[in-house]
Amino acid sequence: MTARILDGAELARRCNDALAVRVSALAVPPSLAVVLVGADPASQIYVRNKARVAEKLGFRHQQITLPADTGELELIAAVDALNADRSVDAILVQLPLPRHLDANRVIDRIDPAKDADGCTPASVGLLHLGRPDLVACTPAGCLRLLEDAGVPLTGRDAVVVGRSNIVGRPVARLLELANCSVDHCHSRTRDLAGHVRRAEIVIAAVGVPELIRGDWLADGAVVIDVGINRGLDGKLKGDVAFAEAVPRVSMITPVPGGVGPMTIAMLMENTFRAASRRR
Ligand code: NAD
Repeated sequence: MTARILDGAELARRCNDALAVRVSALAVPPSLAVVLVGADPASQIYVRNKARVAEKLGFRHQQITLPADTGELELIAAVDALNADRSVDAILVQLPLPRHLDANRVIDRIDPAKDADGCTPASVGLLHLGRPDLVACTPAGCLRLLEDAGVPLTGRDAVVVGRSNIVGRPVARLLELANCSVDHCHSRTRDLAGHVRRAEIVIAAVGVPELIRGDWLADGAVVIDVGINRGLDGKLKGDVAFAEAVPRVSMITPVPGGVGPMTIAMLMENTFRAASRRR
């Protein structure tokens, strides 16, 4: 078997094109504010890519860049100002924050109506109650990739590896809401390979390059690889050993070009949703 490669860049283009049509019908375009603290090179690239897509879609977009030594009160004041700014529809604070800042206290401050990445306690609470509204962008992108590929979810056995608040937990919940039986693994899981082997759908969100080996995967499994890791050779690698996986699985996302572009597409959809509701 040779896997079908799920092209996230192509799907993201389709999502963005469909959204652009809806944006053109709005009298005032949606407005996204992105807050970046410090000069982490990966974060700078992510923020730049988000700005590029937002501008292409005709959104109003502003980036607030604060120095790495910004204090928590100062950052919270910046978030408060965006909350109060009636011209801003959606706010994203780019993570990770420098270590001296408590990301929870900053995220807790974002107005849930402007929660572009579905990460505030209110958004997460709704998701956990089975009433998803503004959903975290990367998990939403994973589900959209499965849906677009026509992967049936009801009754399927899925494994999620990783339990972060921004990816692992919400994606596990979304799969469960889509009627998968979800096995949720993490750094303390015993026999990770055994758990992965039993799954028909594998979502890897770990941050360890090529942790999941080809021979861990069931024949015909569908693999969504969220990981973005810089290998020793300088190349980007996923959490799944791609070359080993391709002959075994039925579908797999590449890294780069899989989940990454879908994260941005879902951010644009969330911004549009927040904007439409505020009008
Ligand atoms: P995180 O560090 O917050 O969480 C990683 C999780 O993996 C933890 O829950 C931990 O329990 C688990 N884990 C760590 N080592 C493990 C092991 N050996 N076995 C099993 N589980 C293990 O990371 P995150 O923010 O969730 O990101 C995960 C990966 O996804 C990273 O590579 C990150 O760069 C990438 N990411 C990609 C996108 C995207 O748009 N494609 C978005 C967010 C994160």
